[in-house]
Amino acid sequence: MYDNNNIFAKIIAGKIPCKKIYEDEHVLFFEDINPVSKIHILGIPKLKCVNFSDFVANNNEKTISNFFKKINMVIESLGIKESGYRVISNSGIDGGQEVPHFHVHILGGEKIGSKIR
Ligand code: 5GP
Repeated sequence: MYDNNNIFAKIIAGKIPCKKIYEDEHVLFFEDINPVSKIHILGIPKLKCVNFSDFVANNNEKTISNFFKKINMVIESLGIKESGYRVISNSGIDGGQEVPHFHVHILGGEKIGSKIR
């Protein structure tokens, strides 16, 4: 069940500010408030999806494909395509998910350790 009051829903609604990297009508990419690497960006679809499984199971291929293509576009715009990066999506209790709105972390700008985010 999606929580309409989660922090990312408030960011999408403009009720809480964020440092935007890219935004269009479907997606939003912004800086993580507590970065764990030199580059730490969060990417979210503007949909009521709790986690990765919810997003993939309940949306059409165009929506899913668009989100992943936008992740890649942001990676290119950050200039980390060649140096490398990590894309992560935490889900549920074992996955360590804190915010119950589907999101990916894009980490880069330096070597990312083996256990991070
Ligand atoms: P999760 O553990 O759910 O995968 O990651 C949630 C992420 O959201 C964390 O890395 C945390 O630092 C970030 N975060 C939590 N609250 C805010 C906020 O208000 N603004 C921003 N920009 N990031 C947030």
